[in-house]
Amino acid sequence: MENDKGLIVVLSGFSGAGKGTIMKHLLQSHPNEYHLSISATTRKKRPGEQEGREYFFKSKEEFQKMIDNDELLEYATFNDRSYGTPKSYVEKLINEGKDVILEIEVQGALQVKEQFPEALLLFVTPPSAQILKERLVGRGTEAHDVIAQRMAISSKESYLMNNYDYLIINDVLEDSVNKVHNIIQCEHARTVRNNDSIKKMQEELKEYSKGE
Ligand code: ADP
Ligand code: 5GP
Repeated sequence: MENDKGLIVVLSGFSGAGKGTIMKHLLQSHPNEYHLSISATTRKKRPGEQEGREYFFKSKEEFQKMIDNDELLEYATFNDRSYGTPKSYVEKLINEGKDVILEIEVQGALQVKEQFPEALLLFVTPPSAQILKERLVGRGTEAHDVIAQRMAISSKESYLMNNYDYLIINDVLEDSVNKVHNIIQCEHARTVRNNDSIKKMQEELKEYSKGE
């Protein structure tokens, strides 16, 4: 039944906008409430990353096999690296009524919306381009030329922001975390997601009105 299902929440945004930081705080402040989908990728493991925690690290051949076997909900290839969302985990969670969050880029997000029109798409942006650049520099994970590349990619991505349901302007972190939580909770309250509760009330009231 539609309203017993969990939500698929897609969180995208410019590199350095604060997606990872928001997700970390959301999962900390609402433990057990949200589940993060772990993607498969052909990119190399970074220092500190663990197999099955940040990603499932795959060879190009293994990744292709996942595509051929229809094991991915969506995937995208850029900078000669592929990223994809394993389908079975997401389907299992939503069928159990659990909310699952996919932190993925725009191409993948649009594929999810096509397959699951009821998916909730959130886009994270900093308040300005200047702040985006400062956050990328401040994070200290990318070289100067890579930062310029990321800013150019962000410029292209900015034309797809209108395809998302909600915009999270990540200024004060705590406000952004609360906003993401509140949007998801509001989404659960939509009448289209609560057909069973509506039907139940209608049937109970019918019984009561018979007795009056
Ligand atoms: P993304 O996952 O979108 O690439 P990160 O979560 O890594 O971005 O954030 C990029 C940098 O910006 C990090 O150094 C992080 O600490 C910082 N940051 C994130 N959100 C905020 C915020 N609301 N205010 C100030 N700095 C932030
Ligand atoms: P990184 O290499 O920095 O971990 O991630 C690079 C980009 O890949 C980020 O924008 C991230 O959101 C995106 N990404 C991570 N997993 C997936 C996925 O499964 N599918 C898609 N389409 N993008 C992903």
